[in-house]
Amino acid sequence: MLELVGIGKTYRSGILEVEALRGVDLRVDEGEFVSTMGPSGSGKSTLMHIIGCLDIPTVGQYLLAGEDVSAMTEAQLADVRNRRIGFVFQQFNLLPALSAWRNVELPLVYAGVPRAERRRRAVSALERVGLAERVDHRPSELSGGQQQRVSVARALVTDPQLILADEPTGNLDSVATADVLALFDDLHDQGRTIVLITHEHDVAERAGRTVHMHDGRLLDAAPMGAR
Ligand code: ADP
Ligand code: ADP
Repeated sequence: MLELVGIGKTYRSGILEVEALRGVDLRVDEGEFVSTMGPSGSGKSTLMHIIGCLDIPTVGQYLLAGEDVSAMTEAQLADVRNRRIGFVFQQFNLLPALSAWRNVELPLVYAGVPRAERRRRAVSALERVGLAERVDHRPSELSGGQQQRVSVARALVTDPQLILADEPTGNLDSVATADVLALFDDLHDQGRTIVLITHEHDVAERAGRTVHMHDGRLLDAAPMGAR
């Protein structure tokens, strides 16, 4: 599904340079569920941004579903994001003025899908996350766990092969965390590829494989339970 070879990322601001990633090699097969752990500042979000085509590496090669995305323009990257990737963030990133289904249809607006089909697919995605009764509610009328399920529906609505989740349960209580993790299990069972960032061990354990980051480097991927 994706392969990173010798990926490095250096942030420059003025004379300051931060090497956020160095020599990262990672291969994720189609249908794999991989979690990424590591201390704050170790480069997890930077890695996620590169895998998600939100940013490009300073050095190295990134192949996503056979396409070399490391050399793409911003417009091409936006197209790849829209076609192939669903994002779930810690902060939900829902637009407060829009109802649940209006939030969920947004990726379809960018993809140029006609309005009637957008509504149908948005409602269907909300049904899949158990929110059939909440399609017209705004984020402020929903609990944190329900808001995160809306954002999972938004990630699903384009039917992407790859789901990227950055601390998706970081703002949730234990009940809502269990709900959201059950959704990720379903997505995995359906054959989707999932890459999840977390610093919670019990969340990481849901994945088939955990990789660890430290100081911008990816440590060897250990089999589950070996650390
Ligand atoms: P993590 O997600 O593991 O906390 P990050 O990828 O956010 O790590 O950050 C890795 C390193 O890169 C940190 O030293 C951080 O301060 C730095 N960094 C992240 N984003 C930027 C940026 N936009 N500009 C400059 N430095 C950054
Ligand atoms: P964190 O999970 O670390 O709190 P955020 O949720 O703020 O991070 O989002 C991480 C980055 O992804 C930000 O730079 C933001 O601009 C970008 N981003 C957030 N939501 C989307 C989206 N729906 N599509 C594309 N990029 C997004």
